[in-house]
Amino acid sequence: MKYIFQYCPVCAADLVPQVVHQAERLACQADPAHYIHYDNPKPVVAAIVEYEGEVLLARNAKWPPNWFALITGFLEKGESPEEGIVREVKEEIGLEAEVKNLVGVYPFPMRNELIIAYHVEARGQVRLEDEIAEVKKIPKNEVIPWPYATGDALRDWLRQIGVLDNVDKTLNFRA
Ligand SMILES: [Zn+2]
Repeated sequence: MKYIFQYCPVCAADLVPQVVHQAERLACQADPAHYIHYDNPKPVVAAIVEYEGEVLLARNAKWPPNWFALITGFLEKGESPEEGIVREVKEEIGLEAEVKNLVGVYPFPMRNELIIAYHVEARGQVRLEDEIAEVKKIPKNEVIPWPYATGDALRDWLRQIGVLDNVDKTLNFRA
């Protein structure tokens, strides 16, 4: 296991793996009371963006050409998840989002995140920030969920709205 943090922020002693509260965690070697790195999952908000009656997916500039997903982002301090996802949609693709409902909450252990996924309806003119390379609109009955994380949210949402054509298909979007 590779650790991001090496030194105690209080006394600069090494952080070493120790059993604290029933799990192995990085803690200060000199005095665990100084600092324990709990490494709790970070909440991430995600949006299934409905735009002009279709689902709008986005491709991050760092992703392969055929890899599209939901709009996601981290919360700012003091922000509610609903405020956070409305802000992210505005920042990343320039649209005004209205939160319709919470679709679900999904663990994403690979990135130590917890995804809070909303269905939003969006209006306005698409305007992409640098982080987003492109967006595409897909009819609800043609969008195929991918096998993890935000793809699970998309699958659940399609079930919730009764669009069942593709819920059992899985997009091999890395092919
Ligand atoms: Zn210390």
